Amino acid sequence: MKHLIHTLSLILVISICQQPNTIAQKQRKKQQARIQSAINQAYDQLKDLQEGKNADYIPALAQVNSDFFGIAVVTVDGQVFTKGDIDELFSIQSISKVFTLARVIEDSGATTIEEKVGVDPTGLKFNSIVAVELRKGKEINPFVNPGAIATTSLVKGNTYEAKWNHILETHNAFANRTLEVNQPVYVSEAETNQRNQSIAMLLNSYGRIYFDPAQSTDIYTRQCAINVNARDLAVMAATLANGGTNPLSGSTVVSPQTNAHVLSVMAIAGLYDDAGKWLYHVGLPAKSGVGGGIIAVVPGKFGIAVFAPPLDAQGNSVKGAKAITQIIQTLKANPYLIEPN
Ligand code: GLN
Repeated sequence: MKHLIHTLSLILVISICQQPNTIAQKQRKKQQARIQSAINQAYDQLKDLQEGKNADYIPALAQVNSDFFGIAVVTVDGQVFTKGDIDELFSIQSISKVFTLARVIEDSGATTIEEKVGVDPTGLKFNSIVAVELRKGKEINPFVNPGAIATTSLVKGNTYEAKWNHILETHNAFANRTLEVNQPVYVSEAETNQRNQSIAMLLNSYGRIYFDPAQSTDIYTRQCAINVNARDLAVMAATLANGGTNPLSGSTVVSPQTNAHVLSVMAIAGLYDDAGKWLYHVGLPAKSGVGGGIIAVVPGKFGIAVFAPPLDAQGNSVKGAKAITQIIQTLKANPYLIEPN
């Protein structure tokens, strides 16, 4: 009898202890189902959309299958949700500007970027030469080509190789994977990037490039050709959502302060001259690339990435921007959307 009472009370204690755990598990499952269903819904509604066109000023990008469509979400506690073509590799293009900026702020401080490049948006197209000329190389923003080439020139290291290794390692740490360069895309852009070379030369004439201008442009072109898939980009975005610490590896890639500066520049200039409209509707720091990738960050919660090559007139992935907008609305994840007390 004594033994039976003892056993029964033990069972009672165990079940009481397990109770909150079960509730937490149920809530977690519900939250997981909510995220996956938001992704599936956006994917199904947008997969047949035929709007926009692949970038073709870099010839290799015009060859990429326009129907690729992949969505990935990675939470700050390392959960991964995906749908569609998430293993397809593509060139990161302008999204690399985010991680190179993070590197420079981390190593040289926020003031360096503010004074030597500028952080206000130019309000002009990402490859505008006029933007450089108007302000004599000042206030050119790290997320348009002139500011991005200047930012790349500021990466620590006295040689091409040293700077490049530093950039690649940073991208690897954000992605928690060893990334490689898409050689055909790099060669294709290096052969046709006279416009970016001119931008770097013009910046140089105003003393606003901080390493050899031709080599800085080449390192920048190589960083834009780093191959990623949608899942990699979502992990990179999740690292930004998690204050600069990679949720999969647990390692600190950049400090929370650096991370905050990077998110701010993403909010004001991530989607080029459509950044204002984007923030107005979605409320999130984001960044797109002409390879068809786009990321957005819900600070403290999750990172989201989409790969879909056809672009709008500004150079943003059409399906990508629409899918993220829809998913953020469904999940009510706009940080400016506040439920009153
Ligand atoms: N490598 C591209 C360029 O310099 C990047 C542009 C982009 O993705 N918007 O033109």
